Amino acid sequence: AADPNPAPIATTCPYCGVGCGVLAQPDRMGGATIVGDPDHPSNFGRLCSKGSALGETLSLEGRLLHPEIDGERVSWEAALDAVAKGFRQTLETHGPKAIAIYLSGQLLTEDYYAANKLFKGFLGSANVDTNSRLCMSSSVAGHVRAFGSDTVPGTYRDLESADLLVFAGSNAAWCHPVLYQRMLAAKTERGAKIVVIDPRVSATAEEADLHLKIAGGTDVALFSGLLVHLADAGRIDAAYVQAHTMGFDDALARAREVAPSVAATARVCGVAEADIVAFFSLFAETERTVTLYSQGVNQSADGVDKVNAIINCHLATGRIGKAGMGPFSLTGQPNAMGGREVGGLANQLAAHMGFDANSIDKVGRFWNAPRMAEAPGLKAVDMFEAVARGEIRALWVMGTNPAASLPRAGAVAEALGRLDHFVVSENVASNDTLAAGAKIRLPAAAWGEKDGTVTNSERRISRQRPFLALPGEARPDWWAIAQVAKRLGHGEAFGWRTVGEVFREHAALSAFENDGARDFDIGALAALDTRDYDRLQPVQWPARKGRARTETRFFAKGGFFTADGRGRFVAVAAPQAPARPSSDFPLRLNTGRIRDQWHTMTRTGKSPRLSSHLPEPFLEISAVDAEKAGVVDGGFATVATAHGEATLRARVTPDAREGALFAAIHWTQETSSSGLIGALVHARVDPISGQPDAKSTPATVRPA
Ligand code: SF4
Repeated sequence: AADPNPAPIATTCPYCGVGCGVLAQPDRMGGATIVGDPDHPSNFGRLCSKGSALGETLSLEGRLLHPEIDGERVSWEAALDAVAKGFRQTLETHGPKAIAIYLSGQLLTEDYYAANKLFKGFLGSANVDTNSRLCMSSSVAGHVRAFGSDTVPGTYRDLESADLLVFAGSNAAWCHPVLYQRMLAAKTERGAKIVVIDPRVSATAEEADLHLKIAGGTDVALFSGLLVHLADAGRIDAAYVQAHTMGFDDALARAREVAPSVAATARVCGVAEADIVAFFSLFAETERTVTLYSQGVNQSADGVDKVNAIINCHLATGRIGKAGMGPFSLTGQPNAMGGREVGGLANQLAAHMGFDANSIDKVGRFWNAPRMAEAPGLKAVDMFEAVARGEIRALWVMGTNPAASLPRAGAVAEALGRLDHFVVSENVASNDTLAAGAKIRLPAAAWGEKDGTVTNSERRISRQRPFLALPGEARPDWWAIAQVAKRLGHGEAFGWRTVGEVFREHAALSAFENDGARDFDIGALAALDTRDYDRLQPVQWPARKGRARTETRFFAKGGFFTADGRGRFVAVAAPQAPARPSSDFPLRLNTGRIRDQWHTMTRTGKSPRLSSHLPEPFLEISAVDAEKAGVVDGGFATVATAHGEATLRARVTPDAREGALFAAIHWTQETSSSGLIGALVHARVDPISGQPDAKSTPATVRPA
C-alpha cells in the first residue's frame, strides 16, 4: 500500500544560478507543495518570489505531450527514426559543418553530456553551443585567461563574510534574490558595505552605500583606474604578485593608459570624481572584498576585458580564494555551470578541455569515438548566421527559444525556416522557435519530472529529482539523444540504462588521465553507484583530496591551472566605444530581467501572483529623453532600432540614466503583441567570447 505520508522529495529550483534546494510534496493530482529545503547550503530554506510560486506552475496546460512531425502526432519510433535520418543525410551530403545542436542552461548536466558526446565525438561536429553563450561566456573566457581554467575561486560563504561587496553590472536583488538576502544580512548584521556599479538605479542600487551610475560599457576604465589607484596608494600585495602571478607590470602600464587619473576615470565613466574616490578608497582599505559581476559585465562587446579588469584588481591585492575575498561571477541560469563542465560550448571539447591534439586524442580514446570534431565550432550568434546563409542545414534545438532570445531574433526566426532538417525538443507546445518551422517536435520532460544534476554559481552540484510522473509521452533529453545515437549506429557508446550512468561517465571523463586533477577527489563522483547517486547530497566539485569538503576555494596560495601554475594579469584594452549612436538612433537600449519572471515566462507566466508584479512590457526612460521625444509617463512609446521596433508602456523614471533606455526580455510574440525585444538587439559580440552586447543597441523612441 502507498505510504499515506511520503517524505517530500529534495530537489533544486529550476530558475537562477543560486541553485536553491526545495522540498516537493506531491498531492497525487499532478500538483505539489513546494517549500525551501532548510538543509540545502545554497538557501537554508529561503526562497524568493519565483521559487515560492513553483507550486503554482505545475499544470500541463500548454505542454507538448507527444512527438510530432509536420504538426501530426507520431510515435517516438517514427520521430527518432526521422531525426536520425535527417542528420545522417545532411552529414553524407554536406559534411559535419552543416549540422548543429543548440542547447540550454536549463538542461541537466546529463542531457548536456549526451548531446556534446554525440555531436563532438560521433558526428564530427563542434557546432554545439548554448543559450549560456548569452549569459556567461565572457566570464568563462576571462577565467581561462587569468586562471588557466574556468574556475570560480570562491564560495557563497565568502559573500557573507566579506566587509565590502561590489556589484558590477548585477541586479542581484532581483536576479539572484536569495543569495542577495544572504549578502544583505552581512550589511545589516555586521555593517558590510555595498557598492553598486550600474547605469540604472536597480533594486540592488537602492540598498547600496555607494552607487556609481556609470555610463554603460565603461567598466574597463573604472577597474583600470582602480588598479592604478591601488598601485599609487601602496595597496599591491607584492609578495603574492611576485610569487604567484605574471604580467602585472604590463597590466598596470596599460591601466595607466586607459585611466591615468581619478579625473580621467570619472570623465570616461560619467560620474563625479568624489564618487570614484570614495569607491577606490573603500576597495583599497577593505581587505575582505568580493566583486560580483553578472550580465552588465558579461553582455558586452568587451565583456572579457571587463572580467579581466576586475580579476586584475583581486590578483594585485592577493584577495582571491581567501575567506570573504575574490572575484565572483554570478551565473544566470540553473545549470550554466554544469554545461561548462561537460564542455557544452562550441569552443570547448569536453570536461574543460580544448581542441588541442592531446585532448582530442584523450577524449577520443575515452569515448572510443569514431569521428572526433577537431576544431572549435560556431558560437551562438555565428551559428544562426550560418543557418541564415544555408551553411548549417540540420539543427536540433533543445530546451530554449532562440527565435525570441537571440539578438536580431526576427532574423533568427526567418533563418530557421530555411533549414532542411529542424528538430526541437521542448516541453511547451508553442513558442517562437516552434512557430519558426520546426519539422520534428519531441516532448521533453520538464522540471519536476526530470532526473539528474545541476551545478550552481559556487560549483555546487545538486540533484534535480522527479516528483511527478512523466506526462503523456514526455521523455528526458539524454534519452532522446541516446536513441538517435543508436539509430546512427552508436548504440554501444550510448547504451546508458539510467541517468546515473550518464553522470558517472561524465565524472569519469573528467578524471581520465587528468594530471591536473591529481590533487582532487574527482574519482569519488565517478565511482558513485546508483543508490549513492540517488542520495547524492549537494556537493562542491572539485574537492581537494584529504581536505574537508568545505575547503573548496582556489588560488589563495597560487596553484593556478596554467602550465607554470601562475595566474595571469591581462593588459586590457580601453573600453570599446559602444556602437555609435546616430541622428536616427541617438539613444541606447539596455535589456534585462525583472524580479518575478524567468526567461520567456513559459513557467513563471502560469502564476498570477508573479504576473502581478510587473504585468506588462514596459520601457524605462529618463525624464529628459522622454520630454525630448514627447513620451509621457504611463503612455505608450515605440522604441525602434535598426532591426525592429516594439511598443511598450513608458515608465518615465529618475532610475534611468539620460541617453539610456531599458526594456525587459521576458515578453515574446507568444505572450504579448507589443513586439519582441530580442528582435531589436544588435548582433554585436565580444570578439573573444562571442557573447552578444545586449546592453547598448542604438535606438530611438517616439510616442506610439
Ligand atoms: Fe530559485 Fe534563484 Fe529564487 Fe533561489 S533565488 S528560489 S534558485 S529563482
